[in-house]
Amino acid sequence: MTFFENPAMQVHESIHKFHDPRTGLKAIIAIHSTALGPAGGGCRMWQYDSEADATRDALRLSRGMTYKNAMAGLPMGGGKAVIMAEAGHPPSVDFFRAFGRFVDTLGGRYITAEDVGVSIDNMRQVKQVTDFVAGLPGNEGSAGGDPSPWTADGIFLGIGAGVKYRLGADSLSGLRVAVQGVGKVGYDLCRQLHEAGASLIISDVNEDNLQRAQAAFGAQVSLTDEILFEDVDVLSPCALGATLDARSIPAIKASVIAGAANNQLATEEDGQRLFDRNILYAPDYVINGGGIISVSLEYMGGKTASEVSAQIALIPDRLNNIFTTSEQQQKPTNVVADAMAESIVAAATSARNQ
Ligand code: NAD
Repeated sequence: MTFFENPAMQVHESIHKFHDPRTGLKAIIAIHSTALGPAGGGCRMWQYDSEADATRDALRLSRGMTYKNAMAGLPMGGGKAVIMAEAGHPPSVDFFRAFGRFVDTLGGRYITAEDVGVSIDNMRQVKQVTDFVAGLPGNEGSAGGDPSPWTADGIFLGIGAGVKYRLGADSLSGLRVAVQGVGKVGYDLCRQLHEAGASLIISDVNEDNLQRAQAAFGAQVSLTDEILFEDVDVLSPCALGATLDARSIPAIKASVIAGAANNQLATEEDGQRLFDRNILYAPDYVINGGGIISVSLEYMGGKTASEVSAQIALIPDRLNNIFTTSEQQQKPTNVVADAMAESIVAAATSARNQ
């Protein structure tokens, strides 16, 4: 199949591959859309089985970024970088500078930031060679820095919107919440849930992370293959994607699913499965937009942390709009959210083409 015959390329603007033999960097940047602005999306470093797998991931994730940025009301399109990590070959000192030069060649069509497997320090190295990067700590009170706490803020508010809509609850006090994955976002979310009086059930494959959250919040610990099926009000997937599928959904007891992980639904049909079971699903790319809101405002420059908070505070209203439309149209929330995002991008595309 040629490049242009690939079905994925029917919807993406461009894909770029970069190899730096000196440092061993092999990276792919997919630009899904620049209709709303420069393509914003993090850089993921992962051990992929093949270049085809890495390309697929970049294409899938960059499309998700277009939807996420559109629904967050940001003047940014969607893009994503993936770096193919190799076992036994840790990145050299110059590795991320080489990645930064790659980003720079795109002249600002793509703006990078940290994602899974990539740290703030790595982004500092990127910043040495390009300005098309965000997610770096700024001055006290300014927008930006590590996106995770901002993402957690949005998830916390989104859980509030979900339980209000489905359970009529004005407060999280006394509600039971299962959090799958207590890493950067999950831990901060647990802190906020604990402070709000929710009781927590947590799981993590990383013992240190698990014990840290258990000790700090008195959380009950669940097994990693049981957390999805706990008898709780809310399930918050904050680990990996594709956990909600034909096998897991029939056994879920939670009334609301609202978490940080990207691509929580294994397939689009899984949204229908949740809808049929009357489980309220907060579309992942809408509820987890806090981090990209912070990254975008940082990139724009001159923005404050209060402005980031004010934009994150809009997430519950966006979710309510999706929940209501889903009920009115009798369509799953993921389908409703996709249609809303697509119409925002289509309007921007047609305005650009005039
Ligand atoms: P992280 O790596 O800090 O935390 C993930 C945690 O999940 C880790 O503690 C890991 O050990 C755990 N985990 C992995 N597999 C697991 C399993 N099978 N069961 C239970 N726990 C498991 O990542 P993070 O930054 O907290 O992000 C969490 C999720 O949210 C990711 O899917 C990420 O893509 C998504 N996300 C993050 C941000 C952000 O700002 N960090 C923004 C949007 C979306």
